[in-house]
Amino acid sequence: MILEHEFYPPEFKYSSKKPIINLPIPKRVVMLMQQHTGAQAQPTVKAGATVIKGQVIGDSPSYIFAPIHSSISGIVKSISPWFHPMLGREMASITIEANGNTDEILLSPLNYPITPDEVRLRAREAGLVGQGGAAFPTHVKLNPTKPIEYAIINGAECEPFLTVDHRQMLENPEKLISGLKLIMLAVGAKKGLIAIEDNKKDAINLLIEMVRQTSDIRVFVLPSKYPQGAEKVMIKTIIGKEVPRGGLPLDVGVVVSNVSTAISLTEAVFEGKVFTEKVITISGDAVNEAINVKVHLGVMVKDVINNLVEFSDSYSRLIMGGPMTGFSQATLEVPIIKGTSGLLFLKKTRFQEAADCIRCGRCVLNCPLRLMPAYIASNTKLGDYSMAEFYGASDCFECGKCSYVCPANIPLVHYVKVAKTELFKIKMTSSKS
Ligand code: SF4
Ligand code: SF4
Repeated sequence: MILEHEFYPPEFKYSSKKPIINLPIPKRVVMLMQQHTGAQAQPTVKAGATVIKGQVIGDSPSYIFAPIHSSISGIVKSISPWFHPMLGREMASITIEANGNTDEILLSPLNYPITPDEVRLRAREAGLVGQGGAAFPTHVKLNPTKPIEYAIINGAECEPFLTVDHRQMLENPEKLISGLKLIMLAVGAKKGLIAIEDNKKDAINLLIEMVRQTSDIRVFVLPSKYPQGAEKVMIKTIIGKEVPRGGLPLDVGVVVSNVSTAISLTEAVFEGKVFTEKVITISGDAVNEAINVKVHLGVMVKDVINNLVEFSDSYSRLIMGGPMTGFSQATLEVPIIKGTSGLLFLKKTRFQEAADCIRCGRCVLNCPLRLMPAYIASNTKLGDYSMAEFYGASDCFECGKCSYVCPANIPLVHYVKVAKTELFKIKMTSSKS
């Protein structure tokens, strides 16, 4: 059962009025072979090869998978391990250095009438994944095994600091609505909703006006509170049904898509663009000016901020993603991947070292799913993933509330994520054997 608490972390949406800016082609990108939930890609090019932007460089015959495309034109310098910013370990990658060629490979644009299979195929060909964090392959989500009544665009963006979805809704509303229509077509949903928290009045007003003449799409205004953007919480708020434990939104007839993913789907279908660039927010209390930028996948964080970001103070922590659900990074030499939503540079005053658990129970009381984060963390530390699963690791939607309220500053959600990753690997291994 989802429990609702009044929980309002500070919003810090410093970049909500900053239009998206495009960054120039980077000199180098590192394309990790695992940028999505599912099977790892195998490199399809060799060191020394010349590649063009949009060319497939990592592929797999697996179903739960999304191909990796080169985000720049250039020369493959190496195929070697690189540190993965979300998995916390090294992973195969392809390093490409730009050669000045500005060509780009595009797929053939489609026009209506379009079939659901064509939408799914295009989503896969374009390498689309959910851009909100978990990076689940879009073509799989668009092939539900149960009847779907609602297709919902998740424009809640309840995570502090991040403003990508807000800016995308304001700057690309036609593409967003078009993407929702494609999603509705693919999953057979009769009703489309764009769900937005009530702190984004400009986006709400704009989209209400734009769907006024559309009978099957509506804007749904959500109350601003955390974690309103977590799929299961949002679905309960909108249709009053709870996704069952261990279940998916499709179990209650719903498919939820991220804002940027819907926009990328429109670009893939009607412009033939594959997924090689994405919008991120750069913010935090250590930067002078928070911004929203469109970056090439695989570009190093160091190269993104170079000559772009001025620091007001020395930062002690870089977080990839938001402060509640993101991942701390130890270096700027990590690449932007498909699920990256932001880069936060935060001052030291914001953090304290983790202490021992004092068994206060706040993490349990504040978990919307009443999971046992303290026990998930302690068992993950011991490597006992089956016990982590027993205490609810797989059900966690990674809202980060448990970490936020923990008086001992234990990064509980980090341990939950590690447990989920390890459990997924165990499942994949056992299904192969
Ligand atoms: S992140 Fe923590 S609070 Fe949120 S669902 Fe998971 S265990 Fe519960
Ligand atoms: S909130 Fe922190 S200190 Fe309290 S029980 Fe949970 S892990 Fe332990």
